[in-house]
Amino acid sequence: MPKQLLLVDGRPILERSIALFVEHPAIDEIIVALPPDLAEDPPAYLVANSKPIRVIRGGMRRQDSVANAFAEVDPRCELVVVHDAARPFATADLVSRTIAAAAECGAAVAAIRARDTVKRVQGPAEAGRHDGSQGPAEAGRHADVTVTETIPRETIYLAQTPQAFQRGVLRDALALAEPGSEATDEAALAERMGHPVRIVEGEPSNIKITTPDDVPSAELIARRSQPKPARTGRAGTGYDLHRLVPGRRLMIGGVEIPSDRGPLGHSDGDVVCHAVVDAMLGAVGLGDIGRHFPDTDPHWKDAAGLDLLARAVELVRAGGFEVGNVDVTVVLEAPKIKAFVDPMRAAMAGTLGIAVDRVSIKGKTNEGVDAVGRGEAIAAHAIALLRQP
Ligand code: MG
Repeated sequence: MPKQLLLVDGRPILERSIALFVEHPAIDEIIVALPPDLAEDPPAYLVANSKPIRVIRGGMRRQDSVANAFAEVDPRCELVVVHDAARPFATADLVSRTIAAAAECGAAVAAIRARDTVKRVQGPAEAGRHDGSQGPAEAGRHADVTVTETIPRETIYLAQTPQAFQRGVLRDALALAEPGSEATDEAALAERMGHPVRIVEGEPSNIKITTPDDVPSAELIARRSQPKPARTGRAGTGYDLHRLVPGRRLMIGGVEIPSDRGPLGHSDGDVVCHAVVDAMLGAVGLGDIGRHFPDTDPHWKDAAGLDLLARAVELVRAGGFEVGNVDVTVVLEAPKIKAFVDPMRAAMAGTLGIAVDRVSIKGKTNEGVDAVGRGEAIAAHAIALLRQP
């Protein structure tokens, strides 16, 4: 299996790497250089996508693949980002920072500080590097390898991708790549032509997966970087109506409003509190106000609306939720409640334990229509949004 198709947590490395750029807002098009066999018959996620993706045949060396891909870049494109398909865990933030640095400096490379002490050596391994042999140096040959220098760790960075370039810089750098000489990355070519290359702080989890041995640690990173499930919000609605009769206090949203009439009821008849209580109970699926505060129970006789609301807050919390916001419409012909809206919001917010700007109360009349319009009743409609803390 080509290493690009190795599965990490059930998803091919290549698909993960492509998704990073498909989802990145600064990227306009994606050109994927693949081994010829794979390029002939690319996987579906390279064919159907929300951004233009072109699949091309890669070359023998890394720089040939990049040159082939670069030849396909839209001429209007200002910056080119080069990324190893084998680094599926680079974040959008790293891509953004690399692009920003390249826009400023012309060339930028993600890299992390060396943590280990770095030794320059001589002997068979060093010679091996020059004859192009790579990979795990044959263990036996290490017997003859000796240290010639310890390089100050502070001056060492380990290059990753993404690497980003202004278009002209990458064009010139690739033109410089001589046949027969291998550049391990494009930044090295830019350096070779004397162009400054800026370091962008890379990410330790941005590992390169090149063999099946790398897959177990990749699996750990994949699981750790999985987005947490979105916190669930729950909405509920509530409605209440009380007859208005002489000789009762008019309590609305926990505030007494001067009036010759007030709501008839077992409790204080505060329609705003009652509608919000029902909305909250509805959101958590706990039934309605009558179930928790029955009007047959003397305990709730003349109960203040705010007290019922406080009890509803406890029920909601016990259900694992907190109040996000509430919005209420009061329907009342007279008196006008406008001057009392802010005190009501403050009282409700205090009881709900949320900021005042999360409590909205609006007053309306019923335009003289129906019982409410004739001043025989007061009504309220409410919605409550609850969320998991
Ligand atoms: Mg009521």
